[in-house]
Amino acid sequence: MGLPLEPLLDTVAARIIAAADELTALDSAIGDADHGLNMKRGCEAVLADKAAILAKPQGEALKAIGMALVMKVGGASGPLYGTLFMTLGKELPEAPTTDDAARALAAAVLALKARGKADFDNKTMLDVLGPVADHLASGTATFESVRTLAAARAEATIPMKAIKGRASFLGERSIGHMDPGARSSQIMIEAVCDVLEGKA
Ligand code: ADP
Ligand code: MG
Repeated sequence: MGLPLEPLLDTVAARIIAAADELTALDSAIGDADHGLNMKRGCEAVLADKAAILAKPQGEALKAIGMALVMKVGGASGPLYGTLFMTLGKELPEAPTTDDAARALAAAVLALKARGKADFDNKTMLDVLGPVADHLASGTATFESVRTLAAARAEATIPMKAIKGRASFLGERSIGHMDPGARSSQIMIEAVCDVLEGKA
């Protein structure tokens, strides 16, 4: 059986939309106060196109979600989340094991690094996505450990100094605030875990 794409899409989008104000507040501290709005717009576009997306085979559906995010989210995060979903669409088999998920997310992280010319510890979404990909590959991951790690890695961006993205313009003043993209990545990972574990 393939992934439960409809509940995944519904829950991820609903959680991001519900967190729009929080994400925008985080972005107002170290950016331009639009991350929540950007992500909400992207999620609403995906929801509006849901029937057409779900009519596609899984890989194509994930790519279509990526394309919609590139078109609608805008900012720095749109092309990056677009790359994430398009790579997952290319790499994930129909019924992925944890190892398949680890490989696909690792490929997405590499693609994202190339796209954003960023590395780990630059205070970006990569600081959540990279460690989660590594953890999935470790063979010890549970839904709970993935959720806990994602939350810890989002928290870990607080003391970091931003090296990439708009927050880097603030230099030292970017220290002391959670990165908005790290938080949106955490929210999405948590939503995926909740759906796959039957908790959402
Ligand atoms: P913008 O910065 O253009 O206003 P958003 O506010 O939507 O775009 O997204 C900001 C988020 O994008 C940051 O919090 C960070 O996680 C992520 N980001 C920005 N630049 C990069 C980059 N070069 N590599 C990876 N992530 C990045
Ligand atoms: Mg912004």
